[in-house]
Amino acid sequence: DCSGMSKKNPEYDFKWCPGCGDFGVRRALEMAMIDRLEETGLPIENNVVVAGIGCSGNLVHLLEGRQPYGFHGIHGRSLPISLGVKMARPELNVVVVAGDGDFLSIGAEHIGPQAARNLNICAVIMDNGVYGLTKGQSSPTTKLGEITSSTPFGKIESQLNPLELYLTLGVSFIASGFSGQVRPLAKLITQGMEHKGFSIIHVQSPCTTYNDTFEMLKGNVQKGIEPGLWEIPEDHDTSDKGAAQQLLQQGGVPVGVLYNDTFRPSMDQQVEQMWTRANPKTVQELVDAFEF
Ligand code: SF4
Repeated sequence: DCSGMSKKNPEYDFKWCPGCGDFGVRRALEMAMIDRLEETGLPIENNVVVAGIGCSGNLVHLLEGRQPYGFHGIHGRSLPISLGVKMARPELNVVVVAGDGDFLSIGAEHIGPQAARNLNICAVIMDNGVYGLTKGQSSPTTKLGEITSSTPFGKIESQLNPLELYLTLGVSFIASGFSGQVRPLAKLITQGMEHKGFSIIHVQSPCTTYNDTFEMLKGNVQKGIEPGLWEIPEDHDTSDKGAAQQLLQQGGVPVGVLYNDTFRPSMDQQVEQMWTRANPKTVQELVDAFEF
């Protein structure tokens, strides 16, 4: 088992179990950040990775190669932290890395407000249907009836469909990917980072220790297991929310861009416009306004 940390330096030496899906997500994010650097010429420090708590959030410590800024905050609050970073430094590219436990349980209350603001960040969510770091409790995306360490008689809550939730809450760019397809996933992350507004790349990233779903996702011909993953057809109209909802009715795990609203202004664009209208005074002007 992993438990994320080693004995050498229990506080800072983060580790993942062999085969964990999060390795693929890390590689995809590294690729997307390098592509962005080559594309825009902006330095790697122009990226800020804000991490949630969990095996997925440990990604911020495990990135290889050139390092972006990293912020490992508190459980469930990756979105409020990103809001703060983006408000103070709108020119930075803010990427959230979190899991189904952090983002969809304690953190779920923040998705709606940021979707309404169209906060200009990209969230990469690693979904393994379990709390891996704390040794296998059920999460919002664990299947109904599943036996886990916290549900020894079967889970009684129904399984959340995160893609349906994001669509309903008005997230303006929604994509679904798989940790085992690194290059296509990197492309989805790039699209999400380029999107002007709130983007979520929801990734199936299996936990090899507590909930190994690789076979269920990829299928196994010998065992007669059909793959759960299926490609979103190229002719899918990503601007059509109704079409996105219909795709989700097909079940399984779609892969590709589900929804993309390119018309809504992002929060930073709106704030910038507001500043022009508000015509704010400089600090010096405010000081000078007082007579001493
Ligand atoms: Fe290990 Fe699972 Fe955590 Fe991955 S998500 S590091 S496989 S416990």
